[in-house]
Amino acid sequence: MITTVVGSYPANSQSPQSIGERLSGFIGLYDEYKPAITLAVSDQIKAGVDLVTDGQVRGDMIEIFARAIPGMVIEDNTCKIKNKIYPPLNSIGADDLKFARNILKNTLNKMNFTEEEKAKKGVKGIITGPTTMVYSSRFDGFYSSEKKDKAIIDMAYALKKEAEYLEDSGASIIQLDEPFISTGVVDVKTARKAVEIISKDIKVPMALHVCGDVEDVFGQILKFKVDIIDCEFAGINNNIHILEAQSSFHGKKIGFGSLDTKKESVESVEEIKNLITTGVDIIGSENMLIDPDCGMRMLTRKSAFSKLKNMVEAVNTLPK
Ligand SMILES: [Zn+2]
Repeated sequence: MITTVVGSYPANSQSPQSIGERLSGFIGLYDEYKPAITLAVSDQIKAGVDLVTDGQVRGDMIEIFARAIPGMVIEDNTCKIKNKIYPPLNSIGADDLKFARNILKNTLNKMNFTEEEKAKKGVKGIITGPTTMVYSSRFDGFYSSEKKDKAIIDMAYALKKEAEYLEDSGASIIQLDEPFISTGVVDVKTARKAVEIISKDIKVPMALHVCGDVEDVFGQILKFKVDIIDCEFAGINNNIHILEAQSSFHGKKIGFGSLDTKKESVESVEEIKNLITTGVDIIGSENMLIDPDCGMRMLTRKSAFSKLKNMVEAVNTLPK
């Protein structure tokens, strides 16, 4: 089974340290986030994770996109939609994705992985989904706040461009994060249409991450035009029962969240193995990717690393 992460990793930005870095800082070229990306990627590789991310170290999942999408502004720490939403002129995540791919390539060359193991490795591109972007922002002109649909569809076309940038930069898989879909406040039909706009012409596998209890929406999101549906199964017991209740998975693979990312304590290999085995019995190992429940930003680095390491060990010691 392929292992991955949902996205964020606990890594702090770093002020320049070497003389070269300080000089770059002086002329405005030092990127304080690069060391954090390096750390996040290296930790994930060391833990044995197959599909890694850049750690989403540049900030909040909404702000990163709001800063770059024409039509949006950040004022008083609030993301606002002020004008018509257009696709970003430059990619938001492509440079970091390429940077992460280089770290992955260099590290793999130094480590003793078999060719078969190397072939499973890659970098996941992450995009905050259109519904979540719109529901997390304040409406301030142009779109009427009662009719969010129009903004969600425009946002989908904007993020479609970002998905293309990420695919062109070598993403092995692209994930849309849509935590709002499980909240009960969104129109799932519009959310589905928006996801379809983004995934339509993308060739690499597309995943949809929806956290929370998905009881009310799981049957519907299984029909979204993506390849993988990723949910939390460690922290939310009810999601296992929801899996059991399905008569069909509509050809989808399930991203099986196997670590409680709200808890700092590290699950034992045995505990993770038991949970994964429950999932295997319901959906079959060939239909699963194994990852943590959600982003790991709130954990300490020590806990995040140990959790991932145990998760990979649990997968590796499962009967083949
Ligand atoms: Zn999540």
